[in-house]
Amino acid sequence: MWSRRLKQAAVRKLVGGPALRHLERIGWNPVRHPDLGSGRMERVSEIDGMGTERATCVLAPNPSMMTLDGTNTWIIAEPGADRVVVVDPGPKDDVHLKRVLAQVAARDQRVGTVLLSHRHPDHSEGAGRFAELAGGVPVRAMDPAHRLGDEGLAEGDVITTGGLELRVMEIPGHTDDSVAFWLPADGAVFTGDTVLGYGSTVLDGSLGDYLATLDRLRAFAEERAVATLLPGHGPRLDDPIAVLDQYIGHRRERLAQVEAAVATGARTAREVVEIVYADVDPKLWPAAEWSVQAQLDYLARRG
Ligand SMILES: [Zn+2]
Repeated sequence: MWSRRLKQAAVRKLVGGPALRHLERIGWNPVRHPDLGSGRMERVSEIDGMGTERATCVLAPNPSMMTLDGTNTWIIAEPGADRVVVVDPGPKDDVHLKRVLAQVAARDQRVGTVLLSHRHPDHSEGAGRFAELAGGVPVRAMDPAHRLGDEGLAEGDVITTGGLELRVMEIPGHTDDSVAFWLPADGAVFTGDTVLGYGSTVLDGSLGDYLATLDRLRAFAEERAVATLLPGHGPRLDDPIAVLDQYIGHRRERLAQVEAAVATGARTAREVVEIVYADVDPKLWPAAEWSVQAQLDYLARRG
C-alpha cells in the first residue's frame, strides 16, 4: 500500500504542479484513482456500478483533467428484457469495451443499440469497435459521421430497445451535437458532458446555446420532477434543480465579471482575463482566454 504522501508525490510528478492545482480546484482527487495506487479508491467505487433500477455505470479507465475519473459508459435495460442500450462506449480500449460486454452477458442480455451523447472521442472513439464486438449492432448519434447504420438521433426520438422508453432531447452548448436521454421510468436524465458530476464543463459549442440548454433542463427537471442526473463523468446527481441552479449561477456570475471588465475598458480576451483571473496562476490564463472569448462573442451577439 502506498502512503497518501507518496501517492501525491507520484501524481505531482505525473501531472505537474499547475495542472494538479487546477485538478484540486475543480475537485478532482487523482490520489483516489486506482491507476495511481493499490486497492479500489473511494470515488471510483462510488462511480463504477452506480445507477438506477434500469441504468448501470461502467467506468472507463481514462482519468484526466478533462474526463475527471474517466468516462461513464451506461448500460440501460428494462427489467427482464433480453436486449440493452449502451450509451457512450467510451475510449477505444478493448479491456473496457469487453468489460461492458461481459456485464451485459452476465445478465443474460445482449446489446441492441449503442447511443452517443456527443461526438467527443472520450465518449465515441470506441463505439465502432464496441458495435463490432457486440455482433454488429447500430450506433445512433446526432452527428452523421459517428453513426453506424441508418438511424441518427434527434429531438423527440424515442428509443424502445427491449421495451425501454428513452426520449432524446437536443441540448446544444457543450458541443452542437450534444443530446440528453430522458428515462421516465427511473426519473433520470443522462446529461453527457453538459452537466458533470462535479466541476464545470468546458464549452466546445456556443455559450448562448449552452445557457438556453441549462434553462431548458432546469424547467424540465421541475416539470417532470426529475430525480437524478446521470452524467458523462463523475458521480450521479440526486438534486437536479440545485445542481442546475448552481450551473446557471456560475455561468451568469462569470458573464457579469466579463461584462464588468469590458465596462472598465478591457477589449481583448487577454485584457479581460488579466482582470477577471487576476488571482489565478497566469499559467492557466491561456485556457481562460478561450472561455472568455466565447463570453465576449456571446455578449457581442446579444448586443
Ligand atoms: Zn467527456
